[in-house]
Amino acid sequence: MNAQELLRLDRAHVWHPYGPMPGTADPYVVESAAGVRLRLADGRELVDGMASWWAAVHGYRHPVLDAAVTDQLGRMSHVMFGGLTHAPAVTLARRLVEAAPGELAHVFLCDSGSVAVEVAVKMALQYWRSAGRSAKRRLATWRGGYHGDTFHPMSVCDPEGGMHQLWRGVLPAQVFAPPPPGGADAPVDPGYVAALETTLAAHAPELAAVIVEPVVQGAGGMRFHHPGYLRALRELCDAHDILLIFDEIATGFGRTGEFFAAAHAGVAPDVLCVGKALTGGYLSLAAALCTPRVARGISRGAVPVLAHGPTFMGNPLACAVANASLDLLDTGAWRADVARISAGLAAGLAPLRAVPGVADVRVLGAIGVVQTAGPVPVDRAAAAAIAEGVWLRPFRDLIYVMPPYITDDSDIARLCRGVGAAVEASVYQ
Ligand SMILES: *Cc1c(COP(=O)(O)O)cnc(C)c1O
Repeated sequence: MNAQELLRLDRAHVWHPYGPMPGTADPYVVESAAGVRLRLADGRELVDGMASWWAAVHGYRHPVLDAAVTDQLGRMSHVMFGGLTHAPAVTLARRLVEAAPGELAHVFLCDSGSVAVEVAVKMALQYWRSAGRSAKRRLATWRGGYHGDTFHPMSVCDPEGGMHQLWRGVLPAQVFAPPPPGGADAPVDPGYVAALETTLAAHAPELAAVIVEPVVQGAGGMRFHHPGYLRALRELCDAHDILLIFDEIATGFGRTGEFFAAAHAGVAPDVLCVGKALTGGYLSLAAALCTPRVARGISRGAVPVLAHGPTFMGNPLACAVANASLDLLDTGAWRADVARISAGLAAGLAPLRAVPGVADVRVLGAIGVVQTAGPVPVDRAAAAAIAEGVWLRPFRDLIYVMPPYITDDSDIARLCRGVGAAVEASVYQ
């Protein structure tokens, strides 16, 4: 099938993320990918600034990850997880427990980030139900978050960015605090913490859990906040008998400069969600980890089981490549790479602050963000970056990069030029 034929059929039959049907803009056809480069069907090569939605931290066709999949394929690609177990899943669970903060000793493996959030919510609600406190079934969060696209995760996404209007009457109504004050370096605002306390105290009898993304709010707006707010949340949740869920699906595995973003704050949640970079971007896999307190609480209830069991739970191929990805992270090279990328992005994006129409430029870990004064014309901005040999996928008023950790300095500089071109195409449209 040539690229034209493929695009025709794509338009006729294939939904794309957040897209209409039939599609209105042609996607680019990718033929292969290696290292940090995507190769398009027309032969163009693009440096990938997105790491395939923040997952491909080691880049594409990494020999260690390829070998892990091939090796596992020679044994079994999948077996059911009910009544059976296997080394890739057990090894992965143990390694996640070792890497996780605090006492997160129990691991529920599932297929995607949204499902991990569903499971985390189910754990929290069932914990209180098992304790005879079923009134505690709402969730609280701060605005500006993103937790996935299935219904419960959607209910804790930012109410404005998260389509709550469309789903009024369908989504469970959750409790929202204002967004955390911006800036990882700005001092903690005691007024904000006091308001948070008022909200949580007022709703404590009906709150099962607070769920937040620690330090970086990703798809909800690429905003950074001071880790002190996470310490405050930990204290408030303890004081008011509320569980704390950290969604590290975007922040986990080194992206923010710590292995888990919770380490910036030195606190641990009761439930932790991981996904995205878990398999180095190779296969869909996520997990919800919980403490013995949560697990024991659930097991003491009238229904002593967690009634959840995805068909592809603990998929051996995905677990094997996740273990290989953790092997690569275990070398510790990511820490220097993320710091190097951070410095490169800070230097490369700084000049954009002076461009009229740019509202903010911010960098944290291997995340670089340019926020414009108005909405970005996504297709036009992406095309401008492509002309610089760069793949970007802006959204709303955000042109950002979250590249693979292996991206070298010259490719980081290229990414910054791509962002610059996308900014120019947006503010001078
Ligand atoms: C991407 C993301 C999710 C959803 O994960 P999927 O695998 O897309 O379902 C949830 N939470 C956060 C913070 C995310 O970035």
